[in-house]
Amino acid sequence: MDFRPTEEQVLLRRSVREFAETEMRPHVREWDEAQHFPSELVPKLANLGLMGIQVSEQYGGAAMSAVDYCICLEELARVDPGVALSIAAHNGLCAAHINLFGTEAQKRQYLAPLARGEKIGAWALTESTSGSDAAGMRTTAVRAGACWVLNGAKTFITHGRVGHVMVVMAVTDRAAGSKGISAFIVEHGTPGMAAGKKEDKLGMRASDTSEVLFVNCRIPADQLLGHEGQGFVNTMEVLDAGRIGIAALSVGLAQGAYEAALAYAKERKSFGKRISQFQAIQWKLADAATKIEAARLLTYRAAHLKSRGRRTTLESAMAKLYASEVAVRVTDDCVQIHGGYGFVKDYPAEKYFRDVKLTTIGEGTSEIQRLVIARQLLSRA
Ligand SMILES: Cc1cc2nc3c(=O)[nH]c(=O)nc-3n(C[C@H](O)[C@H](O)[C@H](O)COP(=O)(O)OP(=O)(O)OC[C@H]3O[C@@H](n4cnc5c(N)ncnc54)[C@H](O)[C@@H]3O)c2cc1C
Repeated sequence: MDFRPTEEQVLLRRSVREFAETEMRPHVREWDEAQHFPSELVPKLANLGLMGIQVSEQYGGAAMSAVDYCICLEELARVDPGVALSIAAHNGLCAAHINLFGTEAQKRQYLAPLARGEKIGAWALTESTSGSDAAGMRTTAVRAGACWVLNGAKTFITHGRVGHVMVVMAVTDRAAGSKGISAFIVEHGTPGMAAGKKEDKLGMRASDTSEVLFVNCRIPADQLLGHEGQGFVNTMEVLDAGRIGIAALSVGLAQGAYEAALAYAKERKSFGKRISQFQAIQWKLADAATKIEAARLLTYRAAHLKSRGRRTTLESAMAKLYASEVAVRVTDDCVQIHGGYGFVKDYPAEKYFRDVKLTTIGEGTSEIQRLVIARQLLSRA
C-alpha cells in the first residue's frame, strides 16, 4: 500500500490551491452575500481542466483519475465550498452521466462542450415530493412520434438557471416502478422548459440552485440517455461516483475550517496566553486534524477502487457519510474556537458552518447513506 501522492498529484494540488487562493479567495464573501454564481470563473476553471476533470482527452477533457478528482474538489472546497459544489454537479453528475451512458454522438454533441467549459451542466433527479425516495418522481416523458414530451417539475437543481445542458430523469412507464424511469438530455432554452424559483439558501450560496419546470417540453427521441427504463439504475451508478466527490468536498471544507481555527488559536489571547496553549483548544484541533485525515483516507480509498473499475456503492456511501459528518463537527468546533468572532462575517468560520450542512443532505442524506451501507452489509452477510 503506497499512501504517497504521485509527483503529478502534488503539482495538481499546488496549482488548484494557487488558483483558489488567487482567483476565488478575494471574492468569497461577496459571492456569498450576493448569492452570485461566478460564471466569470468558468473559462479559468476550464483552463485548469476542471470542467472536464475525468472526461477523456478525446472529448476535450483532462482525463484525470478519480483520486485526482478528489484533490481538485478538496482544494476548491477549502476556499469556497459553493464553487466546489458547482464543479461537483457539473463533472460528477451531468458530465459523468453522459460519459457513462451516452452514445458516441451524444458525447460529441454534449460532453465535449461541457468538458471544454463552453457549457455548464446540470442533473435533475429531485422533485418537491421525492428527494430520498427519488423513484417516487412524478415528472413524465411520453413518446410522441420522433419526440419525447416532458411534463413535471424538478426541485433544488444545481445550475437550474445557469446550466446549458441538463440530464433529466422522468417516468416513461409508471407500472414498471423504478425500472420505468429513463434519462434524457435537455438543452436549456428548449420550448416548454423554464427555470423556476431561485432558492435563497443557508449556505453554498455561490452555487446556483433552482426549480426547473417542464410543460409539454418536446425533445428529439435521440436525446434519450441510456436505454429506456434504465434511467434510475444508471442514476444509482452515477451517484456511487458522485458521492466520492461530495466526500472530497467535505474533506476540503473541513480542512479550510481547521486551518482557520488553527491560525486564530495561535493569534488570540485570553487570560494572558494564546488560546492555543489551553488544552481544551488543543484537543479540538487534535480531534479535527485526526478526523479529517481519516475522512480523507476513506475518500481516497473509494476513489482508488473506482479508478480500478470497481463498483463502490459501499465504499462511496461510507466515505460520504463519514466525511460529511466530520466536516459538520469540525466547522462547529471552528466557530467555537473563534468565540464571538466565529459568529460574525469578518471571519470565515461562520460561512464554513453554514456551507457544511449541505454535505449531509445533497446526493443522499446521512440517513440514506446508512441505509445504503446497511443494505450492502446485509446482502453480503
Ligand atoms: C443546495 C442543494 C443542491 C442540490 N442539488 C441537486 C441537484 O443538482 N440535482 C438533484 O437532483 N438534487 C439536488 N439536490 C437535492 C438533494 O439531493 C435532496 O435534497 C436530498 O436528496 C434530500 O431529499 P429531500 O430534500 O426531499 O429530503 P427528504 O427525502 O424529504 O428527507 C427528509 C428527512 O427524512 C429523512 N428520510 C427520508 N427517507 C428516509 C428513510 N427511508 N429512512 C430514514 N430517514 C429518511 C432524510 O434523511 C431527511 O432527514 C440539492 C439539494 C440542495 C439543498
